[in-house]
Amino acid sequence: MSKTISIIGSGFSALSASCYLAKAGYEVSLYEKNDSVGGRARQITKDGFTFDIGPSWYWMPDIFDKFFNDFGKKTSDYYQLDKLSPAYKIFFSDDVITIGDHMDQICKEFERIEKGSSIPLRKFITKAQDNYNIAINKIVLKPGLSPLELVTKDTITRLDQFYKTISSEVRKNFKNPKLISTLEFPVLFLGAKPNQTPSFYSFMNFADFGLGTWHPKGGMYEIVKAMKSLAESLGVTIHTNSNVEKISVENKKAKSITVNGKTITSDVILSGADYHHSETLLDQNYRQYSEAYWDSKTFAPSSLLFYVGINKKLENVEHHNLFFDTDFENHAEEIYDDPKWPKNPLFYVNFPSVTDLSMAPEGCETGFFLIPIAPGLEDTNELREKYFKLIIDRFEKRTGQNLNEHILFKESYCVNDFIEDYNSYKGNAYGMANTLMQTAFLRPKLKSKKVDSLYFTGQLTVPGPGVPPALISGKLVAELIQQNEV
Ligand SMILES: Cc1cc2nc3c(=O)[nH]c(=O)nc-3n(C[C@H](O)[C@H](O)[C@H](O)COP(=O)(O)OP(=O)(O)OC[C@H]3O[C@@H](n4cnc5c(N)ncnc54)[C@H](O)[C@@H]3O)c2cc1C
Repeated sequence: MSKTISIIGSGFSALSASCYLAKAGYEVSLYEKNDSVGGRARQITKDGFTFDIGPSWYWMPDIFDKFFNDFGKKTSDYYQLDKLSPAYKIFFSDDVITIGDHMDQICKEFERIEKGSSIPLRKFITKAQDNYNIAINKIVLKPGLSPLELVTKDTITRLDQFYKTISSEVRKNFKNPKLISTLEFPVLFLGAKPNQTPSFYSFMNFADFGLGTWHPKGGMYEIVKAMKSLAESLGVTIHTNSNVEKISVENKKAKSITVNGKTITSDVILSGADYHHSETLLDQNYRQYSEAYWDSKTFAPSSLLFYVGINKKLENVEHHNLFFDTDFENHAEEIYDDPKWPKNPLFYVNFPSVTDLSMAPEGCETGFFLIPIAPGLEDTNELREKYFKLIIDRFEKRTGQNLNEHILFKESYCVNDFIEDYNSYKGNAYGMANTLMQTAFLRPKLKSKKVDSLYFTGQLTVPGPGVPPALISGKLVAELIQQNEV
């Protein structure tokens, strides 16, 4: 008889693991507390507007391809993927940088800003591509069990890149502050400051300039729908509105979960919920990491988000827009070093309806505004309103148009919602940051050290934050389970 596995949560990592485990012959049941699957990547619709409430950047298309290929499928079996051209726009206080969809255009834009900068840019991206090939094809596919996993010919010859930071590498080659910000932007997806992130992570720059920015028609939720459909076709049973209240242990082995008051036993338990929360479902003596451990870690930011229905088509904006018109150093300090509500934050705005008309009613625009903030901050309606006004004013000034009078409705989302909806530690949005000391084997482990047959996956374990890493995390934990639970 096949072994049974209960999976907690239905984010990308849990859905990914469920597919691999079902394919390997396990009997998989997945329990999600919310009424729809997808975790941080859920979608809401209102009055004809469609909002992806979490991720919006589709980077590293090769990783999505590999995931579906593992099941004899292609992304195009499930959704239409379009390369965005331009990829995105960055608004500075005195200029706008447009990032095209291939290197020649990007080099031209760099030359416009800093004469001669296209030469170091091409070299930088070639090195970033090498790093991408090593990171994505080798390092991130390791389960983080031992430091030896990182000791390879490729990494030894690049040791300096683990000690130097991306910030120093960029500043060595480029002088213009706008180009520096442009090149430091991609590693922000890893959740830490560029001056805390190893320069090896320049592979994110290759993901950006080399592989491009893509959009699944209908929004990022199309990926979730595709994975749900794949999982169900492989035999996974998905239960929504199913809050897991406890993980019970017998003779040091994970025995059962309690779901909405009902006990469900299985041979293996895997949690794709936030790692910190998953451990609180265990009795204290079975938890591996103390509150002090979690508190000492660098967490990726939380976010203040607004989902806005707009009754006109906007001008001068693209699908993705970054507002880097204030001082990034100050904002980063207010996120990481001295956590507080930022004085003058950078922000990001996504208008998917600029390229995908299915996302908004005719003649309208769907807007998603995001301000990164420190996790754990006080979250009140007054604060949310204050920041909405602040960014709308700046948006109007930088893009030269009125928005305020064209807002049909807005919904907000912040720290309290992340905690309420996902049991997120301190309301973090993107999990635990990838700093040097929080990379690979230094991250919380996929397999419990204290409880047999208990596993974890997701953005607080390996490889780290982001949708592509979540797909990989699910694959890694599924492989580990297959090795250990025969
Ligand atoms: C606002 C925002 C923007 C982002 N932008 C991008 C982007 O542009 N590109 C990108 O690649 N990544 C982005 N990310 C990061 C990416 O979305 C995440 O890294 C990824 O979705 C995390 O997946 P996961 O499986 O680790 O966790 P989650 O998606 O959090 O899934 C965990 C699931 O567990 C469930 N759960 C929790 N507790 C319980 C319980 N007790 N019982 C049952 N279920 C439970 C939760 O409800 C949730 O569904 C963004 C994230 C956010 C929040």
